Amino acid sequence: MAQPTIFQRIIEREIPADIVYEDDECLAFRDIAPQAPVHVLVIPKRPIKSWATLDDGDAALVAHIVLVIRNLAVELQLEDGYRVVCNSGDDGGQTVDHLHFHLMGGRPMRWPPG
Ligand code: 5GP
Repeated sequence: MAQPTIFQRIIEREIPADIVYEDDECLAFRDIAPQAPVHVLVIPKRPIKSWATLDDGDAALVAHIVLVIRNLAVELQLEDGYRVVCNSGDDGGQTVDHLHFHLMGGRPMRWPPG
């Protein structure tokens, strides 16, 4: 059997994380290596590997996460704006094989991201 990812272990409370939001479908916690004053990861509780492995039946879950991110941005006082990133696959820079959305803010973002 495949080893659980670090995010699966966070969901199961096997390792600690600074959790900022949780519901039946998803979990949000602060990134261990923040790239901005606010850097939160929002993940589905279901172990979906990446954006690329989403299937049509995941549409409602993804929509839910999008709205959770919108609400978190308000709670985390990112009224000046923020960036949401989802790295997918090796070229996308994905390092943890559990779908996750980065919510980053608290400073102006640059473009292109590199
Ligand atoms: P990716 O590069 O896959 O898009 O993003 C993975 C993110 O997970 C990185 O920003 C990394 O800092 C974060 N991360 C990796 N391991 C841990 C951990 O154990 N705890 C937390 N909170 N974040 C982690």
